[in-house]
This record gives sequence, C-alpha cells and structure tokens, in this order.
Amino acid sequence: MQQPLSLSTVGAAAGTAQLRIMETTDLHVHLAPYDYYADRPAQHLGLVRLAELIDRARAEAPNTLLFDNGDFLQGTPVGDYIAYDRGLRAGEMHPVIAAMNALHFDAITLGNHEFNYGLDFLLRAIEGCDCPVVTANLLRGIATQPRRDLSLTRPYALLDRVIHDQLGQPHPIRIGVIGLAPPQVTRWERQALEGRVWSRGIVEAARAWLPELREAGADIVVALAHTGLGQMGADEDAENAAIALARLDGIDALLAGHSHLVFPGPGIAASEAVDPHAGTICGKPAVMAGFWGSHLGVIDLLLQRDGGGWRVLGSRAEARPLAQLDLMPDGWQRSAHAAVQAAVPQPAPRAPAVRRTVRPLHDETLAAIRKPLGTTQIPLHSYFAMLGRSGAVALVAEAQQHRIRERLAGTALSDLPLVSAVAPFKAGGRSGPDHYTDIPAGPLALRHVSDLYAFPNALCALCLTGADLRQWLERSASAFNRVAPGQTQEVLVDRLSAPYEFETLFGLDYCFDLSRPARFDLRTGAIHPQNARVTSVTLHGAPLADADRFLVCTNTFRANGAGGFAGTGPDRIVHCEGETMLEVLRRHLATGKAVEAVMSSPLRFAPIPGGRAVLSTGRGAARHLDSVSDLAPQVRPQGRDGFLEVMLDFTTPRSGDA
Ligand code: MN
Ligand code: MG
Repeated sequence: MQQPLSLSTVGAAAGTAQLRIMETTDLHVHLAPYDYYADRPAQHLGLVRLAELIDRARAEAPNTLLFDNGDFLQGTPVGDYIAYDRGLRAGEMHPVIAAMNALHFDAITLGNHEFNYGLDFLLRAIEGCDCPVVTANLLRGIATQPRRDLSLTRPYALLDRVIHDQLGQPHPIRIGVIGLAPPQVTRWERQALEGRVWSRGIVEAARAWLPELREAGADIVVALAHTGLGQMGADEDAENAAIALARLDGIDALLAGHSHLVFPGPGIAASEAVDPHAGTICGKPAVMAGFWGSHLGVIDLLLQRDGGGWRVLGSRAEARPLAQLDLMPDGWQRSAHAAVQAAVPQPAPRAPAVRRTVRPLHDETLAAIRKPLGTTQIPLHSYFAMLGRSGAVALVAEAQQHRIRERLAGTALSDLPLVSAVAPFKAGGRSGPDHYTDIPAGPLALRHVSDLYAFPNALCALCLTGADLRQWLERSASAFNRVAPGQTQEVLVDRLSAPYEFETLFGLDYCFDLSRPARFDLRTGAIHPQNARVTSVTLHGAPLADADRFLVCTNTFRANGAGGFAGTGPDRIVHCEGETMLEVLRRHLATGKAVEAVMSSPLRFAPIPGGRAVLSTGRGAARHLDSVSDLAPQVRPQGRDGFLEVMLDFTTPRSGDA
C-alpha cells in the first residue's frame, strides 16, 4: 500500500529514488501570456510563463519527466490564425509543437480539440514533435480486439531513462506511457473523421494494452488520459473515465484533464474514489492541471529498486498554480539530498528558448487580429446571455440564419420555418468572471470574430419538430434555480449548468416561468416530463404544435449530439458543408455595412411578484444594466469569486407581447 510521500521524513538510501512527473493539459494554444480576445497581457496563463514554473520544478528534483495531456492545438485566435490564415508551410513546425520541443517534453497525447482543424492538419502539426505522441484508443483501423487495432499514433511509448537514487547512484528505468482520449471525438468531429478515424472506450483500450507495457519491461506506467474524473461505474465508452481508469491494475500515475478542473484542489470534493489530501484517485497518484497553462501538475513518486525493477513506495500530488510564480523568490533550493545534487547537474532553464520560439508568432498574430473588418454601432456583450439578452449571441444567430437561408434558397427545406439556435460560449460560469464577450461600439477586427465565437464548429442545419424545440427550451429553462414569489433566490443560474448548453432560439417567441420546477435535474440527470417552465411558445403569434417541422440553424458540436439535445445526432443533420462558424461570421461582418441592430430576444420571463434572484456576471456588466432595466437591477457591493452580483426583481419583467 502506498503512503503519502514526504521527502523530509525519508532518509537518503541506496536504491531509493524520487521521480517527479509533471503535466501540462488543455493548453489550447495558450503560449504567450496574452489574452488575444481582449488584446491585453494576461500573466497567469500560457506555456511561456509555465515554462518558468517547469524550470523551477525541474531544478527541485533530480529525476523529472514532462508530459502534455492534450487539447493543445485549438482554442485561441493564435490557433485559428495558423490554421486558417497563415497555414502550415511545407516542412514547417506548428508553433505549439516548436514550443513543446524547446521545453523538452517526454511524451504527449491527443485531446478531442486536436481534431478541430481536420485530420491532415493534425498529422502535419505533430510530424515535427521531438517526443513520442501516444494514443491507444483513437484509431486508423479498428480490429476485433484492441491490441490488433491500428492506432492513429503509437498507442504507448517506452522511455528508457537513467535516474539517480538518493545517494546519487545512477540506475536505468523504463517508463511506459499510454495515451487515451474521449472516444466521442469521432462523433463530435464526424464531418472530418468519418471513415478515417475510429475510437474505443478509454477503459477498454487501457485494460487491453496495460499488460503489454509490463510485458515490454515498463517499470513504471504513466497514463496520459485526456479525460475528466467521471464515475466509479462509468460506462465503457464514458467521456470522463479517470476514476474508472484508476481502478485498473498497471497504472502508477494518472494524468487527467479535459474537464478543465484542478486536482488536487478545492473544487473537487473527497469521495469514495477521490482523496484530495493524498492526491489520489482509487489510491493512484493523480493530477489535473487546470487549463490554458493555469497550473502545472506535479506527481512525486518515491521508488525503491526491487530486483531488476522498481516499486512505488509512496507518492505526493500537487497542482501548482502559475500565479504562484510571482510569489517565488528568485533563488530557490533543490529539495533533493546532497548526494543527488552533487551527482546530477542543475538543468539548464528552458523558458528563454520557449519564449524565443513564441515571439514571432505572437507579433504576427497581433497584426492579423487587429486588421479592421467592419463596424458595430451597438455594444456586443454576453453579460446577460443567460437571460437571453445578448447582442453578441443575437449577432451569431443572425449570421448563421443568413448563411443557411443563402445556402438552402430554392430547396424544399427553404419552405420550413427557420429557427436559429445559439448558446453563448463565453458567459462566465466555470470559466470565471473574465470569460465574457465585451465588444464596445466601434470598429470590428478579426479578433472580435473569435471573441464572438470561440470554437471552430461548422455551421449546419437540423430538421426538428415542435416537440423537440420545446424540449430544447425546457433544457434552457432548467439552467435556473427556482425563483419563488416574495422570496430571494441567492443564486439565479445553477452552478451545474453550462452556458454552452443554454440555447436561445431566435425565430420563436417564448416565456419561462421560473417559479415552476425544472424539467431537467442537473444533479441526477433525471428528466421530469410533468414539469414545464416554458409557458408559451409561438411562431409569428401562432402557438407551436408538437408535430410542426422546423429548419434549425446550429453548429456541428450540437447537431452531432453534444449535450444530448432532442432530435440531434449525425443522421439528423440535413445540411452541413463544413464551413466554420468563424468563416460565417467573418463573411457576415465583412459585407461592409455596419451592425446597427440585432434581432431582439425571443425570451421573456413570466412575472413573479416579489420574486428576486442574484445573477453572477462579469464586472463589465455594470456598464450595461440598461439591458435588464425591467428587472430593476441592483449591483451588490461585494461579488463572490470576482463576479459582479446583480439582484434582479422578476415582479414586472419586460412584456414580450408588444
Ligand atoms: Mn480542453
Ligand atoms: Mg478536451
């Protein structure tokens, strides 16, 4: 049984060695410490500064390994700039890979977002990677059993290293590294991957491959798993399977991610499987290093030479915030024993080299994203997107509706009533109080396009029934906690709801009564069909009938089934040409005419006499309270966690009948 590791209590011993395993995850092209949407520096994200933290963590320990856990290729205007504008010239390395090479990673794995720009782009991007790229369950060919599959990259790597024990003696060690990713990626990126990439469940693939790593002589096995925690009894093909994975024999350290959470950290509570104090999942040391370079995952293993191999005596796991770098003194001490310090020279810092590789790209990207595109006469923000009142969301709805109308003109589908569905991708929530769109009236540049739409989803259309749409609306209405007459609800938007699942349906008119119980239970996943918060839905004044048919503009993420919305799935898509929403928006804004107005909100709220509730939003919302003036907004003096808290009164919300 492993014990929590404390180096101070472990005496120097021959054949006892400390091995430090470090993780970056979900970098999403955050290299320079810069927020390209806001066009201003952001000191606590990005690989350039994280490299400084890595240098220090390397200097503290004699034996270290560095891994990236995936989702590195997409997520900022930098990634889009490379994929769409500049391209990858022949023989040129992707800047993220160049930065990783400069930092000397030992192995990396693929996340779901690696596929956003298509398979060919990904394969070219990772061509120049100096370290092994491992993925065991994303496949070029699927066989009857996992070990016969043809994996997209190698399923695992064996790293032969020399480590120094606590008396400074060198010993060989073979580290096995297996890569795993959510199998859903083939569904989420169906347009790009169908017929080219297949997938298997994370646990299924790991169970099959792990014995082979041992047979191949791995002393220690590290799972690079681009997956969140999930549950004990998770399905074989669960998106989040870290807990299920940790239960398997043959894994010594678990590097997880994908969910953008931090482990060990205050956001993840103790449970049967999870011990946040010991930093273990099912007894295995584990980390999740946040996102965008916010944290460095650190697992220290204490190893004992055992015959020809190694045994894990104890472990310690930690997620170091990048913000900690500012608090560190300039000089720092190695924590290793004196003999090791003498035997292993201080590693040369890599951060300066990382900074050098990123610099030209940073300057190029800034020039590209500042190019003028068009103008807007109204501010476009998402501070009140969760109330259906967002110019930013309405503009996206307008752009996709306009494009679908254009593409389907003259076809039978164009006879159907058109509904444009948009959910805000930047509307606070788990991503924090700075994660909002806030574009002032004035010139629009390319960076604003990626601010309005942060994912490279493609435009597509579904054919849905009135019953489907009603279910979509009940789902949106379930994002709210209940607001009772005469009472104050301290938290209006349920913390478990995700803004990107709050669909606003432009083209309809509808009313939410938040005093009624929700249909969707976000805690248990249960659906209570008898509950209805949507009290009316009309199309041009006529009530919606369940059997009515609609053409619904949406994106590939939703249409392919993400979030499990009614009527979605690959076979339900009636139009998709792979045109990205960024291209659609860019085209819409570049037509030369200024944005003067956007579609008005289709959502109104039923009056709840004396019913008040607190909305947490971004601080910039204070400048835009006029958009919720009917809800008598009152800003609270002190907001939690950096959010602006606005008390809203639902006694006389704006009437939608006018
Ligand atoms: Mn991610
Ligand atoms: Mg992911």
